[in-house]
Amino acid sequence: MTCNHQPACPPADRHDARAASMVADHWEQGWALLCNGTLVFDDGGALAPAELTAA
Ligand SMILES: [Zn+2]
Repeated sequence: MTCNHQPACPPADRHDARAASMVADHWEQGWALLCNGTLVFDDGGALAPAELTAA
C-alpha cells in the first residue's frame, strides 16, 4: 500500500488509522476504503487489512 499524501496517512495498525485519507467510497453499499487499506462502515465500524487477510 503506497501513500502519496502529505502528511502521510497513519498506518492501519495505529489507533488513529481512521484519520487516513479516503481513496474510495461506496456509501451506497455502506463502506469506504481508506488509503492505508482500512475499510470503514457507515455504522461506525472499521476493519483493518490485517483482519481481512486473517481469515
Ligand atoms: Zn495516504
